[in-house]
Amino acid sequence: MFHQSLDYSSSIGYIEFEDGKSANKWVHHNEVAKVKKAKNLDRKALESKFLGSMLGCALGDAIGELAFRYTTEDSLYHAIDEASILRYTDDTAMMIGIAQVLCQNGDLDSSSLGNRFRGNFKKEPWRGYALGPPQIFSLTEKGYSYTQAAQMLFGGKGSFGNGAAMRVAPVGLYFYDSPDLVEKVYVSAEVTHTHPLGKDGAAVLAKAIAEVINCKRDSDLSPKTFCDDLSPVAATSHFSEKIYDICNFVVTNSSRTKSAKELGTNVTAHGSVPFAIFCFLKNRNSFENCLQDAILAGGDRDTIGAMACAVSGAHLGVEKLPADWLEKLENVSYMRELAVKMAELKKGLPCK
Ligand SMILES: [Mg+2]
Repeated sequence: MFHQSLDYSSSIGYIEFEDGKSANKWVHHNEVAKVKKAKNLDRKALESKFLGSMLGCALGDAIGELAFRYTTEDSLYHAIDEASILRYTDDTAMMIGIAQVLCQNGDLDSSSLGNRFRGNFKKEPWRGYALGPPQIFSLTEKGYSYTQAAQMLFGGKGSFGNGAAMRVAPVGLYFYDSPDLVEKVYVSAEVTHTHPLGKDGAAVLAKAIAEVINCKRDSDLSPKTFCDDLSPVAATSHFSEKIYDICNFVVTNSSRTKSAKELGTNVTAHGSVPFAIFCFLKNRNSFENCLQDAILAGGDRDTIGAMACAVSGAHLGVEKLPADWLEKLENVSYMRELAVKMAELKKGLPCK
């Protein structure tokens, strides 16, 4: 156990342990400030945000998948009305896998997570998985670790697809107040994505979720400050430059079409995560408008929907998600259980 003291005159914070041993660890001022702020969130508010993010991710994924066939707003809304079930894809299946491991172990390690991904894939291989995960699962059956197998993809460079970002919501939620957030994101990413850009995509999206949980009022959410806070978690200059672009497009009220063209809507992490964050920031008062911008611009619709709506749901809380959509969402009761359990575990954890 330890307590924290802050030195606001400098840019760094100081953690002091109760046994009197001095500075064992230095952390960035902002991280410490957010750990301190986060303690004030009550369980109900935390639950609402956890539910909003996980169910938002699943809705974005399921409705994004529909948008491949119904590409206009009118036809899409008609298709949602007509649907008896909103069926999610691999994005949500893997998001559930992370939440399952967190609920079971209270933490993440690559072996537990990889085994869970593999088990879920074997039960439901029809969820629309990319080629990478099954290749990795086959390699692990020959004795390679998940991270070794993931590194072997793409000629030994690892994947820089958006697969680690699409499923990262539970990591951003569970570690939103932890200085270890990025480290935990990397553990979750490296099971399948070892390229620095693939890891950056997951880290930036998880940080966006952590940021909105710590931001209590919409008026506190300035696009510039938000993007400034995201930028340091990107390890590649390519990603940090894109984050700067997001801010510019939001403050100049850039259109969906123009922003999608410039930021990208493809299957790479750097070619989709920035647009997803743009869609959230531009529509931070409306889950539905965020979803529309994310999935009606073309490209990797289900995954961009999942990513943008995971942030929007975490920001707005589950009460702002359309109730009639939630009623039709596949496995919604199970996802609710996981989100509530994660929030319960979280409130029971000692402060880091
Ligand atoms: Mg998918």
